[in-house]
Amino acid sequence: MAGEIDSATFVVVGGGIAGVSCVEGLSFLCPERRIILITASPFVKTVTNIIPLTKMLTQFDVEEKDAEALSAAHPSLSVIHDSVVKLDSADHTIITRDGRYIQYEKLCICTGAYPKVIAEGNPYVIGIRDTESVRDFEKRIATARKILVVGNGGIATEVVHELEGIEIVWAIKDKHISATFIDPGAAEFFLSQLQKDKPKKPVSTVKRLKYTASPGKDGEGHGAALGPDWHANINLSRTQSNKSKVSIEYECEVKKVLDSKDMHSIGEDWPVYAELTNGKIVGCDFIVSATGVIPNSSMFVDGNDLELSADGGIKVNWLMETSVQDVFAAGDVCTASWEHARHWFQMRLWTQARQMGMYAAKTMVGSYKNEEVYQDFCFELFSHVTNFFGFKVVLLGLFNGQKLNGEYEILLRVSRGMEYVKLVMRDGKLEGAVLIGETDLEEMCENLILDQLDLSIYGEDLLNPEIDVDDYFD
Ligand code: FAD
Repeated sequence: MAGEIDSATFVVVGGGIAGVSCVEGLSFLCPERRIILITASPFVKTVTNIIPLTKMLTQFDVEEKDAEALSAAHPSLSVIHDSVVKLDSADHTIITRDGRYIQYEKLCICTGAYPKVIAEGNPYVIGIRDTESVRDFEKRIATARKILVVGNGGIATEVVHELEGIEIVWAIKDKHISATFIDPGAAEFFLSQLQKDKPKKPVSTVKRLKYTASPGKDGEGHGAALGPDWHANINLSRTQSNKSKVSIEYECEVKKVLDSKDMHSIGEDWPVYAELTNGKIVGCDFIVSATGVIPNSSMFVDGNDLELSADGGIKVNWLMETSVQDVFAAGDVCTASWEHARHWFQMRLWTQARQMGMYAAKTMVGSYKNEEVYQDFCFELFSHVTNFFGFKVVLLGLFNGQKLNGEYEILLRVSRGMEYVKLVMRDGKLEGAVLIGETDLEEMCENLILDQLDLSIYGEDLLNPEIDVDDYFD
């Protein structure tokens, strides 16, 4: 295999949602040209059960599939299980760990991101990202009494909610939980869920996301990132009781991770301790580090004029083009460096990985055929649907007042334990929305944000269930 040379019109690196959406788009738009997908893990991620909720908002499941099944469905596609180690852009070639040289006319980098783990290499600190790390987590949780969860995004939120019968200390750097997605009001709404006994989960009812073990070929953890429901098929309960004791340490981070031998003086006996910036010392069985991700871009940089942004992502323009000719990027690995539409911003999520992958296919084909491409409408409005604490959560536009410099008003409707509706308003216009529960308001909110209608006449009645705003505007 060493020295083997291959070539294709389109080459895509990475078998996560972005890479797979990209090859599916390429094979649809340009079925006559050969496509190669190179991926470090033997399984690829595909999107299934797509349910459009509104024009912009799509709910879908993710399935891990054998790479063979993907190539069987797309005759012009060859999938190679290997890791890319170098890009030689002058020669339009990528080089793999197994010594393959693959030439491309248009290349798309979709290698995702890896977790930023505090105290990297410490055996008592784990980052959750791929199937391997989830299996490690499951093994450890089976015997653990107490853990420390560090981070305040989606993964930390899910860990704290899903764990059962264990003591959890949750260290967050913000003033309220889950700050990446929600405001203090919604955090309060969810906090009451943390105190509640959860209903026992039936083991077989989960229809989404069945993960199989997928170690990277070289065992280096290059598996695709997980996503919603990553916890669905693993056993996260420790005891007969299904309630965890959760204590939250607000506005702090981990200053130092300490070994058990340094800590005998405090009289407790835990395998690992963390010193927090608020001065507290937390002893526990292990630490879950869920403090964000770093784009997986380093192997493409050497010898190429590839511009990276401050967060390590590969900079792309509105056509998903990098600074290197004929090289595109999509998904978690890239940083959207065009001038964003007023109600859109980048967040490293499934939704955007899929949108970017599909759109990159369009722009690659446009570039190959020298055809004009218009930017996809999905980049007009931030939209995301997910589940937190068992509730459907829809986020639209500037849902947390992003970009508004604090100059906005909030309209709120809350039914404890049922729904939380927050509208972000400026100058009488809707700028963003957080819809928790079965609110049925997503379509109306999307239209109102996109149309920027003046809603001043409604005032607080905008959220009055007796008034049908939709009818008024129809
Ligand atoms: P990935 O899915 O990471 O895929 C990268 C691909 O590149 C993999 O196939 C990998 O094998 C391959 N690769 C890497 N390096 C190389 C190389 N050198 N050569 C060849 N192949 C390579 N998002 C949500 O929207 N909602 C959620 O609820 C949510 N929950 C999450 C929970 C967890 C635990 C995690 C870790 C992430 C979660 N995310 C969630 C984020 C979401 O998973 C990512 O945004 C999304 O998977 C990014 O897709 P991607 O295709 O860009 O990258």
